[in-house]
Amino acid sequence: MKNKRILISGAGIAGLTLAYWLKQAGFTPALIEKYPALRTEGYKLDIRGTALDVIQKMGVYPSVFESRTRIRESIFVDQKGRQITQTDPDLCGARVEGDLEIVRGDLCEILFDRIGNTECLFGDSIVNLLDQEDGVRVDFKNNPSRMFDLVVKADGLHSKVRLLSFGDESQFLRKLGLYVSFYSIPNFMNLDCTEIEFHRPRQFAIAYCPQKGDAKAGFAFSSNPPADLDLRDPVQQKQFLQNAFRDAGWEIPRILSFMKESPDFYFDCMAQVQMPRWTKGRIALVGDAGYAVSPVAGQGTSVALIGAYVLADELKKAQGDYIAAFERYEMRLKEYVRKNQELAKMSTALMEGDGASWLTSLSLFLGRHLPTSLIRLFKKWGQRQTAKAARAIAL
Ligand SMILES: Cc1cc2nc3c(=O)[nH]c(=O)nc-3n(C[C@H](O)[C@H](O)[C@H](O)COP(=O)(O)OP(=O)(O)OC[C@H]3O[C@@H](n4cnc5c(N)ncnc54)[C@H](O)[C@@H]3O)c2cc1C
Repeated sequence: MKNKRILISGAGIAGLTLAYWLKQAGFTPALIEKYPALRTEGYKLDIRGTALDVIQKMGVYPSVFESRTRIRESIFVDQKGRQITQTDPDLCGARVEGDLEIVRGDLCEILFDRIGNTECLFGDSIVNLLDQEDGVRVDFKNNPSRMFDLVVKADGLHSKVRLLSFGDESQFLRKLGLYVSFYSIPNFMNLDCTEIEFHRPRQFAIAYCPQKGDAKAGFAFSSNPPADLDLRDPVQQKQFLQNAFRDAGWEIPRILSFMKESPDFYFDCMAQVQMPRWTKGRIALVGDAGYAVSPVAGQGTSVALIGAYVLADELKKAQGDYIAAFERYEMRLKEYVRKNQELAKMSTALMEGDGASWLTSLSLFLGRHLPTSLIRLFKKWGQRQTAKAARAIAL
């Protein structure tokens, strides 16, 4: 049963991790990635809890540690740019001891180096799948059709390939009513391993500069977009973001002025993927494609690392008997995914619910008058909830 040829669609965090573990288990993985090269855009991400065990086992923990952002301080500012308070960045990012923060692109490069000479078809995608008795026939956009024993979709939140076997995303995508955007900016504030956060009801903005790489700006906000807005169009995305933060203070107008020219503008709705099953016949979903928890939980990367590890582990244990392995994969992961999706829903409620306005105002007011105490208390609570969800599975 070993030596199975397994096609993985998507060379992101989940796809690269899965390729590594499948290869270790004696299978023959191949990756297909829509983009012409490894995608190294992205913001900073956290690796927490049991996901740290995955990167330890892969032997990449030292490189990830070396490439961590090394952000030293988190500063909160008000509308006028006055410092409200300053806290420990680990507390701000809900990290406990050992958890790591790394820029997405750096993590992708480390994982890509680790998979060695695995076949990677860049600049191509799957256009059709035929699940047959002896394997899956895959038709590609550019390459000739081929047979694989299994196909795993690791192509993210809006997985086009999921559509081919599981149906339209509207059945599974649970939008949280929040939007996220980030892009590189010139380091005009001379940030040196520092992050500056700006909060107001239902809105959050941040600028930071890690130990290496560009300074970045990030936004998260809750809004009801006009019905005629096409949020797949980058021009309309930028306009939507601009409108949402139009009257915000601090350095927001200047940060927004760099948006148009930025080479790596990213915008998406925050959403979860909730599906009754992550496997069908010889096809499986891993990472965001099957069970996105959304960036609001800060757990998407950890869940993707663990999902990929568990899937490969079950295929290895079942000697390639994919029916048994897929069953075990779903069973082992279900509760962990549920807990992490709950974590995101809790954070969303705090940001967009009725309590959002008074909670933010109160914390900013008290933050200014009782330095750091309320923000610290609130962040400590978040840190404890996140740590629990991050350790809700053992390998
Ligand atoms: C460019 C980018 C930047 C991101 N930045 C952040 C961030 O700053 N903060 C955050 O919380 N999350 C971010 N995410 C999402 C985050 O990486 C994931 O939530 C998490 O790491 C889970 O990873 P994943 O491998 O399941 O999905 P992803 O990391 O999204 O990877 C999916 C991969 O599949 C590829 N792909 C998509 N469609 C196809 C297709 N049809 N055929 C073949 N390949 C396809 C994509 O190009 C990508 O390489 C980003 C994702 C991307 C793609």
